[in-house]
Amino acid sequence: MATTRIENATVWTGHRLPSGDVLTTDAVLVRDDRIVALGGTARSTDADEVIDGQGGFVLAAFGDGHVHPVFGGLEQQFAPVRDMSSPLEIAASVGAWARSHPETEWVRGEGFDHTLAPEGIFLASWLDAEVPDRPVVLRATDYHTVWVNSEALRRANYGVGIAQPHDGEIVLSDDGMPTGTLREWGAWRPVYNLMPEPPLTMLMDAVSFASRSFASAGISWIQDAWVEPSGVGVWLTAEQRGLLDQQVDLALWADPNSWREQLDGFQASRARVAAEGGGQVSARTIKFFADGVIESATGALIEPYCDCPHSRGLPNWDPEEMKLAVAAIDALGFTAHIHAIGDFGVRMGLDATEYASRVNAPWDRRWVIVHTQLVDPADLARFAEIGVIANFEPYWSKFDSWQTELTAPRLGPDRTARQYQTGTIANLGATISFGSDWPVTTYAPLEGIQVAVTRQMGPGEPVWLPDERVSVDAALSAYTSGVAYQAGRSDAGYVRPGAVADLAWIAQDPRAVDPLTIGAIPVLGTWYRGRRTFTG
Ligand SMILES: [Zn+2]
Repeated sequence: MATTRIENATVWTGHRLPSGDVLTTDAVLVRDDRIVALGGTARSTDADEVIDGQGGFVLAAFGDGHVHPVFGGLEQQFAPVRDMSSPLEIAASVGAWARSHPETEWVRGEGFDHTLAPEGIFLASWLDAEVPDRPVVLRATDYHTVWVNSEALRRANYGVGIAQPHDGEIVLSDDGMPTGTLREWGAWRPVYNLMPEPPLTMLMDAVSFASRSFASAGISWIQDAWVEPSGVGVWLTAEQRGLLDQQVDLALWADPNSWREQLDGFQASRARVAAEGGGQVSARTIKFFADGVIESATGALIEPYCDCPHSRGLPNWDPEEMKLAVAAIDALGFTAHIHAIGDFGVRMGLDATEYASRVNAPWDRRWVIVHTQLVDPADLARFAEIGVIANFEPYWSKFDSWQTELTAPRLGPDRTARQYQTGTIANLGATISFGSDWPVTTYAPLEGIQVAVTRQMGPGEPVWLPDERVSVDAALSAYTSGVAYQAGRSDAGYVRPGAVADLAWIAQDPRAVDPLTIGAIPVLGTWYRGRRTFTG
């Protein structure tokens, strides 16, 4: 039995006192994979290892309630397209990468900025100038928009007269030719289906990169928010190879067109993970996309888009069908993880969970609606009433170029001014959990917490919707106990004797610094089940 004591630090337990403050103490003692004592008891007990906390701050390790580890890890191995300032710069980068990788038939890139082209329409011809002879497939950082060259369009038989999918949009030019921009997977899945699966070595490198990155940010639990059947084996192999420094739950993707046929597969995946896994991987969750994203005008709205008055966006599900699907997976003991961005998408998610709770027997459910960007005022209280967790990606709740370039013109001033209502929904009694949606945006929880607390772009910048800010304590809770609740982990999310020894040690008390510097606080240590996974 190995014991470790961390002392000379503020230990933030996560437990609320009657005053509303969070209980803190000054030391924590870990034995093997459990926290066994706090404060004076911890200090007066012999330990094999004593760590000087250097006046820093110790809390339960963070969980990421919505993240795409394999996508993020693979992105590092594709052509670089992120953080560029124009479509032509992206095309040039892709061209240079393609010329230096002549053996790669399909040239891929992930994470380009979809705000760089007017109305988010990227032309195949811009890529053709660099790569005319091989297919190029680039996915935007929103993961809903894809930009391809003419060779990719040709291979997918996308030409004049192509039929539009019901669950996506092949953006056409005035002469009816596909432009090269494909919105939602209904439009880009036919292209993706032509591409070879990345080889196992690439996938293992991706998982390993992701896991090390998360550990460096203080994370010990992750929700992989989009897993297809082939992904189950990837995670089991990664666990067997010892590549995982976190606990991971897999959200198995429900296809609106074939969810009934998928039900057996969901149960088989869950059983396989239980049989072959070593306890680090679970498959207890089903992922639903209620809608798309507002930036691409595919987020489903109750009232029409301002810039496109005939469109209310693109629900991915028929609302009645989604009720049946959520009820079906709920009856099988799965948790529903529902992507919902527009107010109609959110309402679909709330209606489906409400329906399932009416027709099925009660159990300890952990339903979650993720992103929760625009909620109709009539629906705000329903999260708490139905018992649906509201998951936010706090890094998004600032008035950035996504807002100014794409979202605000589409929503108009009224709806623009009621996005990401974290404070309101929390005050109405709902459980809040946080996530990153990495690689969409940074995986670092402290960077997200900074935005949740300030809702500012930087010093001197205006505060966006000040009433929706939350306290540092509330933001830390959303990223620790909030995600642990979402995960169904009753022994995690708080620092208390008996809890699993998942801990993060950061250099400063985030309640005591300028809130606009919280994101820069160094992470000094991370522990997962008592095992140190990161040393800063
Ligand atoms: Zn996502």
